[in-house]
Amino acid sequence: MNTRINNSVNADMKADLNTTIFGKILRGEIPCQKIYEDDELFAFHDIHPIAEVHFLIIPKKFIPTLADVTADDSALLGKMLSLAPLLAKQQGLIEGFRTAINTGKLGGQDVYHLHIHVFGNRPGANALRAMGALT
Ligand code: 5GP
Repeated sequence: MNTRINNSVNADMKADLNTTIFGKILRGEIPCQKIYEDDELFAFHDIHPIAEVHFLIIPKKFIPTLADVTADDSALLGKMLSLAPLLAKQQGLIEGFRTAINTGKLGGQDVYHLHIHVFGNRPGANALRAMGALT
């Protein structure tokens, strides 16, 4: 029996398992307010913003949570993080913003497709409150 693993088939199968809302957004099955796309990343406004501006950066590759990343994903993670200030500036967050990655059930993650939240207020509005107890 040939037990060799075919990685490309496995990657496709994994992508098929992306039944999350963000998988549907990536496949164009549900609409979103897109603000950025390249061959590896996608960014769009959060449907329930918690600040004047609130968007999400996601990889096109299906990675459920930050706890699932491997060393192979380092460049991708760096790309996601370095995109945040560029898009924040484009969205008018020129005096600062906050980033967050919720991970897993106790980390408050609702959508199991890795995403960075980027949110903040435009100049003239209130600063975000300092992070206090969130429990
Ligand atoms: P999490 O709690 O997983 O870190 O964050 C998931 C985020 O996805 C939430 O802020 C939520 O408002 C956002 N979200 C959930 N469903 C949709 C959707 O259908 N469209 C958009 N644009 N954002 C969504």
